Amino acid sequence: MKLIIIGIQGSGKSTQGNLLANYLKIPYLSTGHILRNLAKEKSKRGRYIKEIINSGELLPDKQMLPIVEEYLSQEKYKNGFILDGFPRTVKQAKEFTQDLDGVIYLEVSDKEALWRLSYRENDDNREDETLVALRKRIEIFHKATAPVLDYYRKKRKLITINGEQEIKKIHKDIIFELETKKFFK
Ligand code: AMP
Repeated sequence: MKLIIIGIQGSGKSTQGNLLANYLKIPYLSTGHILRNLAKEKSKRGRYIKEIINSGELLPDKQMLPIVEEYLSQEKYKNGFILDGFPRTVKQAKEFTQDLDGVIYLEVSDKEALWRLSYRENDDNREDETLVALRKRIEIFHKATAPVLDYYRKKRKLITINGEQEIKKIHKDIIFELETKKFFK
């Protein structure tokens, strides 16, 4: 099964993505993670990616697309994956070559997400988790990524899940929707 998980920062995508990956026995990957690794490279590209991430802006589509496509061409993603963080723009969605089974949207209000993020432990010392950068990323989500939801809704691939519930309940809701929605068959 090839799935996408979408939501604003702090919506629980990584938690739910990993739970679902375990349940479905398919790998989970996130573009944020891939890019943070590339940003460690001591090259012009590495420094450029680091700068973009820290600003909270998006990497341009024409650079993002080949990175994701190349990553997903690995053997381990052949039979399925849960992808978090991509597509973030309609252009990315339109040009993505993978045939998706579904797109899970974890719906959480900005207020709840900011509240959660302000209490989240910043393990990686992420410079893009300052309040200013976080607000910027949430603003970009509404501007650039909300139209992606409409794009998949029209294609009847979107499942909207209430992300403001207990972790276990959200997980159950996702599985229920995946198993019962006819458009996945
Ligand atoms: P994330 O951890 O998913 O919030 O990603 C961290 C940062 O990586 C984002 O704020 C962007 O700068 C960059 N990024 C991740 N995914 C994408 C994408 N699909 N398109 C453009 N930039 C991205």
